[in-house]
Amino acid sequence: MSEKTIALVTGANKGIGYEIAAGLGAAGWTVGVGARDERRGAEAVARLRAGGVDAFAVPLDVTDDGSVRAAARLVEERAGRLDALVNNAGIADPGPQEPSALEPATVRRLLETNVIGVIRVTNAMLPLLRRSAHPRIVNQSSHVGSLALQTAPGVDLGGISGAYAPTKTYLNAVTVQYAKELAGTGILINNACPGYIATDLNGFTGTGTPAQGAATAIRLATLPDDGPTGQLFDDGGVVPW
Ligand code: NAP
Repeated sequence: MSEKTIALVTGANKGIGYEIAAGLGAAGWTVGVGARDERRGAEAVARLRAGGVDAFAVPLDVTDDGSVRAAARLVEERAGRLDALVNNAGIADPGPQEPSALEPATVRRLLETNVIGVIRVTNAMLPLLRRSAHPRIVNQSSHVGSLALQTAPGVDLGGISGAYAPTKTYLNAVTVQYAKELAGTGILINNACPGYIATDLNGFTGTGTPAQGAATAIRLATLPDDGPTGQLFDDGGVVPW
């Protein structure tokens, strides 16, 4: 079994996920770089290794049961356990955002990646996380998933988001349920809000850098044993659900 701490980051070939991998790698972690496209994953691993990170490629499409099972086998062969799982992979949809204009197929597609994908990957990796002395799960959420912020007067979350924002609300809700189930196991599970970050997801309209967006997830992946669980954070602290 590997002595180095090992993390798996989904959707780590670019954007915020890449910077989470880089940050954990700089802190001395071995990092599994999850990517649904093998070529993009290999390129990211090469760049991370060139920067001194002990990275390895994990072909991983979060919407595919077989791919997720194969990824768990690969991590097991590589390290025998998993210390941190960062469920970062996510998609948005550029189409109309008004709920009245939503196509059911769009909602299903976003749910499949942003919610069911997280559940699928988490459940496949839990046996490996249970073998860690300090297991952590981080789900990449968003301020727009917070119903408290969505309904607070005067808070600007960028307008109506009929499909994407509710997927993050569902992700928040299911994280609370995981935290209840995993209480007392040592597994800490929390959600991160990266901020409004310039990536492909928003056509690079975000105002923060991917490295800034990675900071909260990195902090939650490296929490001490007495750290929080079942909460939502940004770089300023706790965010109301
Ligand atoms: P991004 O640059 O578009 O990166 C998204 C990553 O997810 C890519 O690596 C993408 O892979 C991967 N991905 C998508 N579908 C996948 C699937 N089925 N299986 C595996 N990987 C998949 O976007 P980002 O901004 O870094 O987003 C990362 C996370 O942060 C997402 O969960 C997003 O919702 C969240 N977030 C972002 C912002 C923001 O302002 N950017 C704000 C709040 C929350 P490909 O390269 O193959 O497409």
